[in-house]
Amino acid sequence: MVLKRVVVLGSTGSIGTQALEVIKQFPGRFTVVGLSAHSNIKLLENQVEKFKPRAVAITSTTANVPNTFAHRYPFLKLYTGSDAIDRMLEDLDYDILLVAISNGIAGIKPTITAIRKGSRVALATKEVLVCAGEFVRQELDRNSEAELIPVDSEHSAIWQLLEGEARGNLLRIILTASGGPFLGRSKEELKDVSVQDALNHPRWNMGSKISVDSATLMNKGLEVIEAHYLFGISPSNIDVWVHPEAIVHGLVVLKDGSMKAAISTPDMRIPIAYALSYPERLPMAGIVRQLDADVLSQLRFLPPDTETFPALKLAYGALEEGLDRPCVLNAANDEAVHAFLRGEIPFLTITDVVQETLERLPAKPVRSIEDVFERDREARQWARKIIRSIGQRR
Ligand code: NDP
Ligand code: MG
Repeated sequence: MVLKRVVVLGSTGSIGTQALEVIKQFPGRFTVVGLSAHSNIKLLENQVEKFKPRAVAITSTTANVPNTFAHRYPFLKLYTGSDAIDRMLEDLDYDILLVAISNGIAGIKPTITAIRKGSRVALATKEVLVCAGEFVRQELDRNSEAELIPVDSEHSAIWQLLEGEARGNLLRIILTASGGPFLGRSKEELKDVSVQDALNHPRWNMGSKISVDSATLMNKGLEVIEAHYLFGISPSNIDVWVHPEAIVHGLVVLKDGSMKAAISTPDMRIPIAYALSYPERLPMAGIVRQLDADVLSQLRFLPPDTETFPALKLAYGALEEGLDRPCVLNAANDEAVHAFLRGEIPFLTITDVVQETLERLPAKPVRSIEDVFERDREARQWARKIIRSIGQRR
């Protein structure tokens, strides 16, 4: 068995730590050569001791990195600063880059670098495809050795369902959505929800940004855009079904009228393991919970409530319109979610900020990655202005 060299970006996060758990179970298959963290130096140090990577990148410029860090681990090369990941990836040799950082825009360059090196990218950070899907696809077309395998559970499901299917067989895909912590609530009932309420996801334990996105349904909107770029399918052929139990992760409709569904216990270690080991499957069955008929007899599927949760509609609209719209949507959403997490705006205002930013900023084409960064910056400026004016009105 060939030992695969893995770099985990965002190793201190929810996906990052679960990826390291998977890797630890299979020491003969994977070795960790690089890690990145933003601010959680303590956890990073634990990981360094356990996995003995060749390099780590610490991206926060205000992170408190002890002077002793580099001395204590003589095998380790330490990179710090906002371009730490880029410098680390220039120097390192690796087979798989797991991108699991919560800052989507910071995930674009590493993803492209790894594709240009002909490596596999296991992609959790969906925002990379939302902002730069077109350019990532172009790079994949130019570098035939490279692979991009989704980690997002719904997209991993669709990927698995399409294995062995001729391209022309696919008619529609269906992404499931748990509905988040506020499923079934009215707008009135959402007026005063707290940050804690929004972070309290019923099925998944995730980082705070994606947890809030799940509560607004923007996460599903971003996933529709992600699916478009991953599977080359038009938005009108992508459906979303709310499925509170989060057991069925995705479905496909094929041209002969048959449908296939991917089913598993909601455990991110399954899609993470698949993205690392594809096309093989790792023996995870003893590690993750198995489903029984009792669980499967309780499954529900409902249409999404896009009146109460308009984010999904905004995302479809942005994808249909194209140009810079998905990038602007993503940037405004990121700013609004963080403002909500800081207590600056109420929950329902998150989507208002996104909508207003899209309205204020006229649509423009994006011709290069530099354009993506430029539009991201502009959209964030607008979103912040809108957030400030809401703050003054309150
Ligand atoms: P977390 O918030 O748990 O972790 C984020 C990671 O990114 C941490 O390692 C953090 O470092 C690092 N980070 C934070 N800010 C920056 C930055 N500016 N530059 C570089 N690194 C940074 O997030 P999740 O693991 O939940 O999510 C990561 C990505 O995966 C997101 O894009 C999310 O949408 C996607 N995803 C997550 C799922 C989940 O189940 N969690 C499911 C599907 C997709 P530190 O902690 O050291 O500050
Ligand atoms: Mg998902």
